[in-house]
Amino acid sequence: MSNTKNKGKLVVISGPSGVGKSTLLHRLFQEYPDKVSFSVSYTSRNPRNGETHGKDYYFTDTETFKKKIENNDFLEWACVHDNYYGTGKAEVEEILLSGKNCILDIDVQGADSVRNTRIPAIFLFIAPENIEVLKNRLEKRGTESQDAIERRLKNAIGEIAQKDKYDYVIINKDLDDAYRELQKYIFE
Ligand code: ADP
Ligand code: 5GP
Repeated sequence: MSNTKNKGKLVVISGPSGVGKSTLLHRLFQEYPDKVSFSVSYTSRNPRNGETHGKDYYFTDTETFKKKIENNDFLEWACVHDNYYGTGKAEVEEILLSGKNCILDIDVQGADSVRNTRIPAIFLFIAPENIEVLKNRLEKRGTESQDAIERRLKNAIGEIAQKDKYDYVIINKDLDDAYRELQKYIFE
């Protein structure tokens, strides 16, 4: 990645599925459209009800995704819950050059890869108070099958075990408190 003046900050956010990352980030993008921008990832998973291509993800088939890996188009990519997910280099570069902070919502493997690139970034982990809360939130959201929920909860334990690799850990118990912390770490 090139080194240019007035670049925004790269902010890496991880946390188990259902912890509230999208909810917190949605609020951030609504409140600070001129200061932060979401790097839309590529994924081989199917869209959920209400998700939009180009806004939530670029939904691709596995073959297209693998071609992009070969072309070295990704800053990082990983296989998460049996699907491919990746961050486009071009998307990140464009946001940083615009002077906005670039937010990546990526899993713990992806965060490891970004750390290894040595690109300066802030690493934030969003954690639940406990696994039971996570289960309730995933069930209440109702976007995953029971099987997928079980898989996501199983993965959550391994993900939470890596939270100490991050610069800051935010417990998303009360949404307003968690949001205040998020703002503090991104803008201070
Ligand atoms: P993620 O993007 O991390 O998978 P979501 O943002 O989709 O998680 O949140 C999962 C569910 O939990 C959603 O239904 C959301 O409304 C709810 N939720 C998020 N944060 C809280 C919170 N602090 N308290 C209660 N429910 C929450
Ligand atoms: P979901 O299917 O719930 O949208 O996302 C599942 C997991 O994939 C989440 O942990 C999310 O952070 C992660 N994820 C989303 N986009 C990317 C990406 O581009 N790279 C990586 N490594 N993980 C991603």
